[in-house]
Amino acid sequence: MLRADIALIGLAVMGQNLILNMNDHGFVVCAYNRTVSKVHDFLRNEAKSTKVIGAESLEDMVSKLKSPRRVILLVKAGQAVDDFIDKLVPLLQPGDIIIDGGNSEYRDTTRRCQSLKAKGLLFVGSGVSGGEEGARHGPSLMPGGHKEAWPHIKDIFQSIAAKVGTGESCCDWVGDEGAGHFVKMVHNGIEYGDMQLICEAYHLMKDVLGSCCVFDRWNKTELDSFLIEITANILKYRDTDGTHLLPKIRDSAGQKGTGKWTAISALEYGIPVTLIGEAVFARCLSSLKDERVLASKSLKGPQGAKFTGDKDQFLEDIRKALYASKIISYAQGFMLLRQAAKEFGWSLNYGAIALMWRGGCIIRSVFLGKIKEAFDRDSELQNLLLDGFFTNAVQDCQASWRRVVSTGVELGIPMPSFTTALSFYDGYRHAMLPANLLQAQRDYFGAHTYELLSNPGHFIHTNWTGHG
Ligand code: NAP
Repeated sequence: MLRADIALIGLAVMGQNLILNMNDHGFVVCAYNRTVSKVHDFLRNEAKSTKVIGAESLEDMVSKLKSPRRVILLVKAGQAVDDFIDKLVPLLQPGDIIIDGGNSEYRDTTRRCQSLKAKGLLFVGSGVSGGEEGARHGPSLMPGGHKEAWPHIKDIFQSIAAKVGTGESCCDWVGDEGAGHFVKMVHNGIEYGDMQLICEAYHLMKDVLGSCCVFDRWNKTELDSFLIEITANILKYRDTDGTHLLPKIRDSAGQKGTGKWTAISALEYGIPVTLIGEAVFARCLSSLKDERVLASKSLKGPQGAKFTGDKDQFLEDIRKALYASKIISYAQGFMLLRQAAKEFGWSLNYGAIALMWRGGCIIRSVFLGKIKEAFDRDSELQNLLLDGFFTNAVQDCQASWRRVVSTGVELGIPMPSFTTALSFYDGYRHAMLPANLLQAQRDYFGAHTYELLSNPGHFIHTNWTGHG
């Protein structure tokens, strides 16, 4: 009997495409789905003339696998994953591997790692990015969990993942427990930030300059990325009546929650990931469409303000403001990863993470290659902004960035991500912030004590209303 290299449970779009991708790379996959009729449909249609085999039940599926058995779940995140794990456990043997490729919450993955370890099974929680196209032709894969599983799945994972440069795979081992899903979550948060930054650039161009046809050109600069490329295509797209489609789309954004998770983690671990936070809030504000329409009738912006500068110069200023803000966003994202590594005792390879995001996923870009190079120069790099390349890049953009923010503020254009990025930069580069006053206030009303600069580690209280 033909024995399968791996089984995949979950024949919705992601699962089907990952199976076909694995098949293309020479692996024999056994397909299974809760609704078994979908296995038959898949084998008859999409998987026709492939080496893919099907299973009628979990028992049947397990019996068709080589040892150690490898089973990937691509089912709805949450209870469905736990339900399948519970059903698989009695059918598997010590050393067998369960992989969850869904968008699971990283804490769930850590919990599953712990409970399966006690049963002698290996568990991997892998971020999968790139949507259905990525899954079919080369996703970004971010596996974490029990490292003993990695030698048994590395070949499959690195074969099917996207390739960049001289064939480097956008997949490497991330770290213990829920590290893979944590990295995927931060990736999704960064995606929110990148999209919001492009939207703010578009808003400035549209309302200040009256034209936004530069994204094709920008895609040949440091901003070269999938999101800039699709933005150029979206802006050009014409409806059936010949007019542009974009202005007709309701300005109310949806969200599935992974950006929010990143912002919540940032608050939880005390890391100022301000840009992703603003990007999530910008979506929330956009969804208050009816309220905004009402407010627009009575809340006035700056009266009579008009742009009088050089339009070409301002366009280049916007490009540089976007680039500098993007650097801040990634610097903040990596700060969060660094803190999570500290919290959970994970040993994360930041250069490898940049490479995993370099291709296959929504945030893929040339820029991520530069981040990889920065971590290659110094794997212990404290902050991306302190790498010479990025220090100089921000410096080169700084005057433009400030002009864009001040002009936008004067003209009343909302730019939450551009402005928070600049505020973060200014805060991060200040040796002295006004938190001395904050500490004094806390001590005044709550006797929370404070330290003197001249005597760190020694906390004192002052009776602020007393007289000596
Ligand atoms: P999905 O719509 O999230 O899930 C459908 C699959 O889950 C079906 O196989 C369905 O089985 C199974 N399922 C749902 N509820 C179940 C339950 N209670 N018990 C057992 N099975 C259950 O599928 P998807 O869009 O392909 O995504 C799969 C996973 O990948 C998700 O975690 C998703 O978040 C993640 N992901 C998706 C994308 C994307 O672009 N779509 C990208 C990255 C990651 P039945 O056929 O029997 O209903």
